[in-house]
Amino acid sequence: MLFPCPFCGSRDETEFTYVGEPKARPEPAETVSNEAWAEYLYVNANPKGVAREIWLHLTCMDMFAMTRDTVTNAVLSSETPGRTR
Ligand SMILES: [Zn+2]
Repeated sequence: MLFPCPFCGSRDETEFTYVGEPKARPEPAETVSNEAWAEYLYVNANPKGVAREIWLHLTCMDMFAMTRDTVTNAVLSSETPGRTR
């Protein structure tokens, strides 16, 4: 299977690693409860179907968002939100 790196183009899936679901990082630790940190770090929606995920291309070491159907593994898009290169 080929994954689309926004910087390098289509590459074999073995060149990529899953980073996680895009989510907002909580405020600094002094103001966040242990439960809120644990939820941020370990609880994922893990949806069945279309999902937006963060991936790392190990060849260029850049992260990007990929929208993928987790049932069919079809890649719908890849993008670098908030970044130009
Ligand atoms: Zn790349």
